[in-house]
Amino acid sequence: MSSSVATRRAASQGRIADFNQTVILNAIRRSPDGVSRVELAAATGLSAQAVTNIVRQLLASGLIAEGRRAPIARGKPRTMLNLNPDGQYAIGVHLDPAVITYVILNLVGETLAHASRPTPADPDPELTTREIVAQIEELITETGVSRGKIVGVGMAAPGPIDVDRGVLVDPPNLSGWQSVPLRDAVRDAVDLPVLLDKDVTAAASAEKWQGGGGNFLFFYLGTGVGAGLVLNDEVFRGKTHNSGQIGNMIVSNDGLPCSCGYTGCLGEGSHPRRLVQHGLAVGALDDDVDLDDRLQVEAALVQLADNALTGRAEAIGVMDEMVRGILKGCEDITLLLDLDRIVFGGPHWRTLSPFFTEERFSELYRRHALQSIQPITVSGTRIGEDVGAVGAASLVLDHTFSTNPAVLLAG
Ligand SMILES: [Zn+2]
Repeated sequence: MSSSVATRRAASQGRIADFNQTVILNAIRRSPDGVSRVELAAATGLSAQAVTNIVRQLLASGLIAEGRRAPIARGKPRTMLNLNPDGQYAIGVHLDPAVITYVILNLVGETLAHASRPTPADPDPELTTREIVAQIEELITETGVSRGKIVGVGMAAPGPIDVDRGVLVDPPNLSGWQSVPLRDAVRDAVDLPVLLDKDVTAAASAEKWQGGGGNFLFFYLGTGVGAGLVLNDEVFRGKTHNSGQIGNMIVSNDGLPCSCGYTGCLGEGSHPRRLVQHGLAVGALDDDVDLDDRLQVEAALVQLADNALTGRAEAIGVMDEMVRGILKGCEDITLLLDLDRIVFGGPHWRTLSPFFTEERFSELYRRHALQSIQPITVSGTRIGEDVGAVGAASLVLDHTFSTNPAVLLAG
């Protein structure tokens, strides 16, 4: 046997070993009540000896732990195996134009700590990166987790993103962030592996991790809107990992002019600046707002929502129009892809969720039913405000549970 054949065979045996280990680890992950070695062999089709060997390695690495002993009808009780929650940790950072959110997750996806800080009004990339790094260090100190057990840092940011190079390309709502190599800057500073992915993709991944797969749209409401897609239990990314750009879908006949040259675009109709501008124009807000001051706009959006909730007709009109446009976009996407549910979330979801009522959904349900054989279900994310950061951390944990993770963890 030539040495190159031997090397190839060794490499392929290494991949098979990795693959089998991943299969066992995922089977254990899917059994929160624990699973025995015998059950693992039955579930995976691996031999009892192979399972015993892999389990020994996983126990030694600390990724799994032996739990309770389950009695069986005959013979000695079986020792159940579980993921060891403290076997690994992952950090997630979500850079949104309005807020930066941080979480640290354990191996079973529980959030051990989180923090959020308003994004600086004029977010200089270098200063902001330094702030992100300081906050990551604070989170590590606060939780007291061992640095050696942190697999890496996942970062979620607005698209478009050059995922392979870890670079923010030209985010429309973060001026000055053109071609910023955020991934490597953070990696060099924290000395941990780092990955960078799109915010909506991270959010969809979080929802998939914690809420199950299927076929769904994660409708992301941040400073910009975006569509995260899970198709056949997998996060859909597209060729360049930038799928989900829905800002220029036309959803209104008489909407606002958009910089793309059309009118009535989804992104314009739901952009905080435009909602506040609209609110001012129709008398839904009392105090003047500097539309170029993002923090003022954010505060005015909350005020606009409050005014609508207390019954001010002009403010209700603004919200109605926004919701109608978003639901038209949702309708088109769900019918195009034959989805079974829509999940809403993102930094502005808490402010805007009171306007996404069953009454307003009824028109979506009706129109959807006319063209589909299955009703659509709609909900808010169960993960809450941290969904982007939780998703970014879950993309890091994917490296433990998949032999072929979608995004490179640059170490
Ligand atoms: Zn447009």
